[in-house]
Amino acid sequence: MTVIDLESYEDALATYDPVMGLEVHVELGTKTKMFCGCSTELKQDANSQTCPVCLGLPGALPVVNEIGVESAIKIGLALNCEIAEWCRFARKNYFYPDMPKNFQTSQYDEPIAFNGYLDVQLEDGEIFRVQIERAHMEEDTGKSTHVGGATGRIHGASHSLLDYNRAGIPLIEIVTKPIEGAGARAPEVAKAYVAELRELIKALGVSEARMEMGQMRCDVNLSLRPHGTEKFGTRSETKNVNSLRSVERAARFEIQRHAAVLNSGGTIVQETRHFHEEDGSTTAGRIKDNAEDYRYFPEPDLVPVAPSRDWAEELRKGLPELPRLRRKRLKEEWGVNEHDMQSILNAGAVDLIVATTDAGAPSDQARKWWMGELARNANETGRSLDELPVTPAQVARVAELVASGDLNDKLARQVLEGVLAGEGDPDTVVEKRGLKVVSDEGALGTAVDEAIAANAAIADKIRGGKVAAAGALVGAVMKATRGQADAARVRELILEKLGVEG
Ligand code: ADP
Ligand code: MG
Ligand code: ZN
Repeated sequence: MTVIDLESYEDALATYDPVMGLEVHVELGTKTKMFCGCSTELKQDANSQTCPVCLGLPGALPVVNEIGVESAIKIGLALNCEIAEWCRFARKNYFYPDMPKNFQTSQYDEPIAFNGYLDVQLEDGEIFRVQIERAHMEEDTGKSTHVGGATGRIHGASHSLLDYNRAGIPLIEIVTKPIEGAGARAPEVAKAYVAELRELIKALGVSEARMEMGQMRCDVNLSLRPHGTEKFGTRSETKNVNSLRSVERAARFEIQRHAAVLNSGGTIVQETRHFHEEDGSTTAGRIKDNAEDYRYFPEPDLVPVAPSRDWAEELRKGLPELPRLRRKRLKEEWGVNEHDMQSILNAGAVDLIVATTDAGAPSDQARKWWMGELARNANETGRSLDELPVTPAQVARVAELVASGDLNDKLARQVLEGVLAGEGDPDTVVEKRGLKVVSDEGALGTAVDEAIAANAAIADKIRGGKVAAAGALVGAVMKATRGQADAARVRELILEKLGVEG
């Protein structure tokens, strides 16, 4: 790999002011493709989900997917955009083997949504407003696999395989206006923006927005200008960055790289760049100047899209609570601090905790189990919380059994362990494993008597006033009852029977 000069981050920011532009592609979760009835499920054999339309065969005519348009409008509304009263698709002409029509059906100067903004929260709680240029509809390309080379890239490959199953899957591209004024926090803003957008998309239910599966990917445009100047510098465009961490790293790397080039008297070329996960670097892709001409023209085979104001209003009314406001509300309802809320978010536990409280558990209990025992198990087994084989209703039932005194915390952990091991519902696990707090006073009394008899010396010490020694007897009783006794009650009974005050 070529060695790239980098300026230190601090020195770069001491001289320059970063300007960013983020282009995010979201693959919609529609059942069928954007312009034909082919399934969007990518499970089957290569090229099994294609038809004359998405293969671009002569004479095939596209039809717009209504849910695709509806999803675009919802995204536009949630991003505070204006919704076009009338707009068209456009052909973006270029040749690439994974695009059988030789043009991508996209939108150009008539996007369905434009002029919006998204407020994002930074780590210290500050709100940063990112202005949105537009959100437009387009279609995905197919997938090429380059075979025979060392890198998997086209260079050095002996041949390429093409799979058009993905060709025509609906995409929404969301483009920001140039993001200025973030200074040293530009990489953090980029990450927070993509994170917030992802939450928003999920909340709207238009896509699962799983970045690791390519359902959401981000191009990071970045340029530097010397402090105190207005004019934007030349940008680089790092393509297809597919994790939140990588978005942040790509922006940071480009800031340091641009600064090094500029400081050494060089010029930045406007080009696309590839991001490398292994070391967080970027390398040059193709030169891309502004004169790049896709010969866009209005798509003659599709009727214009003219969403009625009534429809848009109806969709606006149906929008869910925005993620940022929901988080704020839940943080207050749960009475947690910013740090704990952040941990809950990072663990992906928000919806699980909400579902657990909806199933009847107090929120502190719901949080305790998801962020404690279950988070530990998820961590150990390399799964996310929502992949664990336990439902919020089951966690709520465990909390209920603790609240009613049928289980103590230790037993509750064993019950969850049983549920995770596939032994059944909490009640079934309690039954099968015989896990119940021994609250029957008679049985407890007998266990205490036995412990006193077996530990006469300790019992004498306690009688003599060494109350602290009671711990050893409590331990003996807990052991005898296999942890199923209420420890506080056991202690009371011991002291009572030995005639000392607690
Ligand atoms: P392209 O088709 O070349 O990707 P777009 O207009 O779709 O162009 O996206 C460019 C993105 O970069 C937008 O988010 C825009 O706001 C941003 N941008 C434009 N000029 C600059 C610049 N000089 N520095 C940083 N970002 C820029
Ligand atoms: Mg771009
Ligand atoms: Zn098709």
